[in-house]
Amino acid sequence: MSKVLIAEDNPVNRELLRELLESRGYSVTEAGDGQEALRRIEESRPDLLLLDLDMPILDGFATVRRIREHSSLATLPVLAITAYVMHGDRERVLASGFDGYLSKPIQSRSLFEELERFLGKHNNEQNPAARNAQAGK
Ligand code: MN
Repeated sequence: MSKVLIAEDNPVNRELLRELLESRGYSVTEAGDGQEALRRIEESRPDLLLLDLDMPILDGFATVRRIREHSSLATLPVLAITAYVMHGDRERVLASGFDGYLSKPIQSRSLFEELERFLGKHNNEQNPAARNAQAGK
């Protein structure tokens, strides 16, 4: 089962993302700021990070910079989640160490397309044998 860390300071957005991801069988951990995200990465070794840009303590840009400084985390897929939609933002995000970009409000279709781009096609309820095999490993 792929593990996704959600780093987002808005608890409502965090909960919506968690429900979406869990409905597809992803395992989810959460962080409310960038510093907590760095701790959770150490603890739970997620397969992918959804990282809000606008957060207290450490924002998304500072957090992804710290992540990329660790050689062991250089290849961790990190997707920015942001309400910014101004021209040039996407380029700035992709030049800052992020692997992709999702605009709020997050559409489930684009979320899962991005996740599958990095984690591969995900097994879910349509394939209980595969799910049980994963759960038992
Ligand atoms: Mn925020």
